[in-house]
Amino acid sequence: MLIKDARFVLTPNGLLENKDILIKGNKIKSIGKTDKSGRVIDASNLAVMPGLINMHTHASMNLFRGISDDKKLQKWLQEDIWPLEEKLDGDKCYSGAMHAFLEMIRTGTTCFNDMYFYMDKVAEAAEEIGIRGNLGYGMIDLGDNSTDKQLKKTQRTIKRLKGDFSDRISPTVAPHSCETCSDELLRKAKSISDKNGIPLHMHLGETHKEVEKLLKEKGKRPVEHLKELGILDSGFIGAHGVHLTDEDIKILGKSNANIVHNPCSNMKLASGISPVPKMMKKKLNVCLGTDGAASNNNLDMFEEMKLTGLLHKLNSSDPTTMPVENILKLPGTNAGNALDQRIGKIEENNLADIVLVDLSDINMNPLHNLKSNLIYSGAKVVTSIIDGEIVMKEGKFTKIDEADVKRKFTEAAEEIVS
Ligand SMILES: [Zn+2]
Repeated sequence: MLIKDARFVLTPNGLLENKDILIKGNKIKSIGKTDKSGRVIDASNLAVMPGLINMHTHASMNLFRGISDDKKLQKWLQEDIWPLEEKLDGDKCYSGAMHAFLEMIRTGTTCFNDMYFYMDKVAEAAEEIGIRGNLGYGMIDLGDNSTDKQLKKTQRTIKRLKGDFSDRISPTVAPHSCETCSDELLRKAKSISDKNGIPLHMHLGETHKEVEKLLKEKGKRPVEHLKELGILDSGFIGAHGVHLTDEDIKILGKSNANIVHNPCSNMKLASGISPVPKMMKKKLNVCLGTDGAASNNNLDMFEEMKLTGLLHKLNSSDPTTMPVENILKLPGTNAGNALDQRIGKIEENNLADIVLVDLSDINMNPLHNLKSNLIYSGAKVVTSIIDGEIVMKEGKFTKIDEADVKRKFTEAAEEIVS
């Protein structure tokens, strides 16, 4: 496949103009000029950029969009989300995730990192629509002594995801948080992740309450606790990272751990402001995520990038904080590094996960500064290529029936509240 005459191409080496991108199989073969023909996409009025990577999601929670707003996190979970989650089953999670993938692909996301339930069903949906995914069964054992059961479920999920799906689907190990998981579960989760060579994805320092609880019970902050359990290393992906001290940041940096910023969810639940500029200064690998649609309430990574810029400029009273180059790294290069996959940047031999943005759209005019337009002005993704395959062409999904997905999703969402 050939993306021909791209007006702009966003690469790690800067913005290229008027280039062809040749895709062979699932990889980017060359970026330059070529006489090769075959299947051609005319990109003379398009910007070519790496597909965005959403590093913290609960895709099936699309079902709960708008169901419980304006509540404190603990009340939101205990009064609304947890009772509703009791009503979930594999089919509902499939429908919720499939709908989430429509939303992700339409807004430029080509890869996600998810933690939830019925992950084999979530993987089935991802496989069908063609999106790349990292999936971990969300383990919680505090209060119900289900440690072994939880770990077994994780092992079963890993086996299933490795055996029955394409290379686009990768398993992770996903203990929910320090607040909801026993030390034994966390230790054993880490050994499963080491044994399989896969990332460990969990919530970290999302709320003040989580930190207080651990300090009271163990006399340690969550980061110290995880360090002592031997969990922090380059395969660690900690979502939120809101309540972190300078010492916590130092420990995370020394461990080469990864943090996922979720500005929208943190603002909506008033969880706090993650010290992202400080972490980036200390060379921590910071990524970006939306969290689930129940606390966001969408999965638009362009919006998340804009909020990252706005939040940290305001918080520091300094408009030079988080320039566009830094923001673009979060769902790009940094996410690829955290997952240890050749994605997140347009580079020869990388996997062909690419999105094409319409430059004739009103919001893109004038084109004084493409990167600024992409982050702050509202970009419209028209075509999405994942693993060398077109999954959305000029706004139309190529592998699934959009109307059918929406119909089944609406039925599942209504059943949950009935
Ligand atoms: Zn979350």
